[in-house]
Amino acid sequence: MNGRQSAPQRICLLGATGSIGRSTLDVIARHPQRFEVSVLTACSNVDEMARLCRVHRPELAVMADANAGGLLAKAIADIPETEVMVGDKAIAQAAAMSDIDIVVAGIVGSVGLAPCLAAVQAGKRVLLANKEPLVVAGELLMAEARRCGADLLPIDSEHNGIFQLLPADYTPGLQSSGVERLTLTASGGPFRRRDPGTFATITPQEACRHPNWSMGEKISVDSASMMNKGLEVIEAARFFGIEADRVDVVVHPQSLVHALVQYRDGSMLAQMGNPDMRTPIAHALAWPQRIEAGVKALDLVAVGQLDFEAPDEARFPCLALARQALASGQAATAALNGANEMAVAAFLRGELRFDRLATVIEQTLAAMDHAVASGLEALIAHEREAKRQASVFIAEWSR
Ligand code: NAD
Ligand code: MG
Repeated sequence: MNGRQSAPQRICLLGATGSIGRSTLDVIARHPQRFEVSVLTACSNVDEMARLCRVHRPELAVMADANAGGLLAKAIADIPETEVMVGDKAIAQAAAMSDIDIVVAGIVGSVGLAPCLAAVQAGKRVLLANKEPLVVAGELLMAEARRCGADLLPIDSEHNGIFQLLPADYTPGLQSSGVERLTLTASGGPFRRRDPGTFATITPQEACRHPNWSMGEKISVDSASMMNKGLEVIEAARFFGIEADRVDVVVHPQSLVHALVQYRDGSMLAQMGNPDMRTPIAHALAWPQRIEAGVKALDLVAVGQLDFEAPDEARFPCLALARQALASGQAATAALNGANEMAVAAFLRGELRFDRLATVIEQTLAAMDHAVASGLEALIAHEREAKRQASVFIAEWSR
């Protein structure tokens, strides 16, 4: 389809006030004939949402928080074309609306699962930044995408890189495509070289100061603990339908090589670029075409050197915890995600030490029986139970 000749594609942006939301709106603004913002959703940031509504004039704005929705309706009462709705259900309904072409999933956390699923079941093109739904129920989400004919495209940078590197006829199962292994790179986060003896005193501010990427608080803490890479190994295994032991992680502090694919014949292909989420977002918005994203080309001579090293799993135990959960199955990864969400939130509130993030997750995983049914409701209930369980351990540690 040529977006420049036909009507603009209509976009529903979930998590419009966040970091992914901001990058997406920047790319869209570069292509007004091609894309149009139809729906914006957010949690509670009324001021930013009101500002975005003034700029983009969407047909619908949804706030998850009911009180925030009331305030937004007042704040934009002078914009008659924008209807305001509230609540989680309204967000999921918006993602499945018949006049929407593309849904950008930029909500943080497993709360994004319901709207992702709704968008997939409505057969939309879905750009998935929100990795937690894949960690909680990825096999189901992927199966629904196949069943409903949805284009589910990864925009997490590493997974988008892999997607770009795989052959066009790639199908999960690998053998026929000649793909042997996938590699995700990791920056190593802000504490790659910090003395682990001082991890107990790490502040939320220090953890959120990522060396290469500017992102929301939760993913910044995940990057600092390297749980982000653990979640991404699960995401890659589920998204590309590949065994966990064929997904490698290598630390690459410059964050210029995002992903690599090893082929049977000895070739290793790399996807590179400046660390800027607008590249994967533009790639997936226009796929299979290529559009301008506002990102400068990489200057290899100026870069000079690329470094790679093995991840230090003793320093960052979350990576091994994620691999263990992946080996145990979907219920265990749902529990891992729930425990991590609670632990990170407690750390950000100043109620849990940084070095206890992994402890709480490990305690939660050990306290639960993961041999449960694999249906959606069971997985959601299992994650909820993990959150409850984790909050008990968090309360014990904060005493
Ligand atoms: P962020 O915190 O900057 O933004 C989160 C967005 O989600 C906000 O718009 C917020 O209003 C919305 N939100 C939060 N809680 C909600 C709720 N209960 N209901 C509805 N909406 C809610 O986060 P981010 O950095 O943009 O990350 C978003 C997702 O994308 C995460 O899953 C993250 O792991 C993933 N991701 C982000 C980046 C990045 O560069 N920021 C890169 C790769 C993947
Ligand atoms: Mg990533």
